[in-house]
Amino acid sequence: MTLLQDKVAIVTGASRGIGRAIAIELAIQGAIAVVNYASSSAAAEAVVAEITAAGGQAIAIQADVSKSDQVDALVKSVIEKFNRVDILVNNAGITRDNLLLRLKTEDWQAVIDLNLTGVFLCTRAISKIMLKQRSGRIINITSVAGLMGNPGQSNYSAAKAGVIGFTKSVAKELATRGITVNAVAPGFITTDMTSDLNNPEDILKYIPLGRFGQPEEIAGMVRFLAADPAAAYVTGQVFNVDGGMVMA
Ligand code: NAP
Repeated sequence: MTLLQDKVAIVTGASRGIGRAIAIELAIQGAIAVVNYASSSAAAEAVVAEITAAGGQAIAIQADVSKSDQVDALVKSVIEKFNRVDILVNNAGITRDNLLLRLKTEDWQAVIDLNLTGVFLCTRAISKIMLKQRSGRIINITSVAGLMGNPGQSNYSAAKAGVIGFTKSVAKELATRGITVNAVAPGFITTDMTSDLNNPEDILKYIPLGRFGQPEEIAGMVRFLAADPAAAYVTGQVFNVDGGMVMA
């Protein structure tokens, strides 16, 4: 019996980066990984192939999780196939960076629509199923930017701070029904999202551990929060996985 034996885990934005590492980690622990993606179908199928080659279970499902109808379709296909959802990892996210005065309304809106509204849409749809099951784990990927702010990322920081408030509110709403809701706040992790930073050396000065993190290091925290009974008494919390960047 593995840690997450046959638990059904939806990971949004799992074709690349942190979401990919989370889907693989949960599947290694025995979960059936639902690898959601927006447009990278080949990459998502490659994640599924990697999991199945290692003896795990996974399927890829396309859905733009910033759109209510697509979230509903995603949940419908998962329920038709597996009839339950045990773990939801709200990971899909984008950046559209610019300084405030240059930030276009459409770039503000796109980031809020996916990084905040997408978390709301998936959590609302899936918590309905978890409420009937009277069990579930919801894990939201926020960012240290939502805690400390970041110049050029007012849209992203606002969305990620919003996810933290959302996490705490929903944790209180669902606590009596066996559902925990927590957030993980990565620092700088090596993925496509951080591949074009023009000042990596400057950033390293603020990371006590002296390096960027790897997607697998976020997946490790998610594995803990998904595990039963290890994390059963943990809800409404934000866990920084950031090499020590933010110390409260
Ligand atoms: P990434 O490498 O750019 O991957 C983003 C993932 O999100 C991809 O799988 C992408 O799918 C998916 N996605 C994009 N738009 C979507 C949509 N509308 N619906 C569904 N999926 C969508 O990003 P990452 O660095 O792994 O980031 C993952 C999460 O961690 C994000 O929430 C990000 O804000 C957060 N985070 C990252 C860092 C970091 O340093 N990397 C730090 C703090 C927080 P496609 O491949 O189909 O486009």
